[in-house]
Amino acid sequence: MEKYEVVIIGGGVGGLTLALSLARHNVKVLVIEKDKNPGKIYKGELLQPKSLLHFKELGIIDEIIKTSHELPVIHTYEMKEAKDGTVSESMYIPLQYNKLHTEFPAARMIPHERLKNIILREAEKHDSFHYWNPAAFQRFTDADEKKSLFHRALVTSRGEEVEIEADFYIGAEGRASIIRKALNQNQVTTQYNHHFLTVTFPRPADYTEAKMYASHKSFIGLFPLPDNEVRCVMLIKPGDYNRMKKEGLHTFTEPFSRFEPALKDYVTQIESWKEIQLMIPVRHNIHEYVKGNAAIIGDAAHTVHPMAGEGMNLAVQDGAILGDLLGWMYDTGKLDTANLKMFEKVRKKRADRLSLLSHFSALGYAWPFRWYQGGRKFALKRLERHPILHYKHMLNISGVGWWAYTPMDVIRFLGPPFLYLKPVFDRRSKRAIFKDKDDYPWRA
Ligand SMILES: Cc1cc2nc3c(=O)[nH]c(=O)nc-3n(C[C@H](O)[C@H](O)[C@H](O)COP(=O)(O)OP(=O)(O)OC[C@H]3O[C@@H](n4cnc5c(N)ncnc54)[C@H](O)[C@@H]3O)c2cc1C
Repeated sequence: MEKYEVVIIGGGVGGLTLALSLARHNVKVLVIEKDKNPGKIYKGELLQPKSLLHFKELGIIDEIIKTSHELPVIHTYEMKEAKDGTVSESMYIPLQYNKLHTEFPAARMIPHERLKNIILREAEKHDSFHYWNPAAFQRFTDADEKKSLFHRALVTSRGEEVEIEADFYIGAEGRASIIRKALNQNQVTTQYNHHFLTVTFPRPADYTEAKMYASHKSFIGLFPLPDNEVRCVMLIKPGDYNRMKKEGLHTFTEPFSRFEPALKDYVTQIESWKEIQLMIPVRHNIHEYVKGNAAIIGDAAHTVHPMAGEGMNLAVQDGAILGDLLGWMYDTGKLDTANLKMFEKVRKKRADRLSLLSHFSALGYAWPFRWYQGGRKFALKRLERHPILHYKHMLNISGVGWWAYTPMDVIRFLGPPFLYLKPVFDRRSKRAIFKDKDDYPWRA
């Protein structure tokens, strides 16, 4: 019987971040990952400032900065799209991370598997870190299900069955989570009226800025990666994917050439539909992340709409916070399972808020009508010009803090312009930024 202090099911970005944090606390941790080879599907690649702060604490920020691409601004364009397909700019809004008074006032793009590799290599430097790959978690073999106390579990690895024992089990296995089912957590699911197509293709060396283009009926996003590549997303209606595939690759590449002529000779380097991935957005929420001696993190606990680029960040931040809590529990000998609930107290509220923010960001682009684009333009303009609204938006999506939206914000959005032309807010403010006591209340 193999015995560990903490077993993590799933070596995705969330599970690995948690494992690195535990290894740094000298906790005997085992990560079970079923996929032998790096994942081929596209996943999150945009790191928000809060994730960067966690990676600094975990000692890998230099490597991440060296191998990622910085995005201090998301340039947002509202476009006029004529019947013949010609497009022209009708409004430009820069969403600026430098509104934030934080150590990393920018997002960073990094290939998903590269990030996982950096975390894994660092964790492997610690003797207390163990990694079984390929190995799949099957089921618990000894558990008091009423109390959600799980003792032993069965893992298959290279055709063999191995029984393991642990103090704590953490489900970090993504959307199809076995641990979530063991905790009897039913998901509340939100579906959307649109799908996305996504692919990475080459870019010119001087194409370095993130851009989002939206007309009344189209949406594309372009996010430069390091190594002269750019990750793109295109919003489509359900059913469009099959139609586009029948009509030919030009149905995908042509809108990019129209909205961003600088990439015309690059997007056409995509050779087949096999490179392009269909992404069906969905949102899942559950009531509890922790029960007994088990917890779930990342996509296992919450799936969010990808519009605001939060999914991967929620997984990283869950991993870092839970790692700190479990590390503290082992450091201080306070191993009572009730202490695990503190993870849920810190993280659930934050994940729910960002899930809602991602949901509303998605709704902003959900209907293909000119009047709907008009409403979005109005809201975006107010958001950019009013210092408090702009700060709140960047603060909230960055993860470094949370400033709740209030009825006064409705007045800021809808009220007369003199309300936002006045410089009423000091941009050096640290208002609503999380402090250590918010992130790690147990440390106090
Ligand atoms: C196309 C796409 C685009 C996205 N874009 C963004 C974005 O721009 N920004 C963003 O922040 N997020 C984005 N996301 C979301 C982001 O990728 C996820 O939220 C993030 O990967 C979740 O991390 P995780 O560690 O919780 O789960 P995962 O990354 O899903 O990792 C789970 C791991 O568990 C393993 N596993 C599963 N079951 C078992 C088992 N029984 N035994 C052992 N191992 C198991 C899996 O093989 C996998 O490696 C995107 C997702 C997709 C699919």
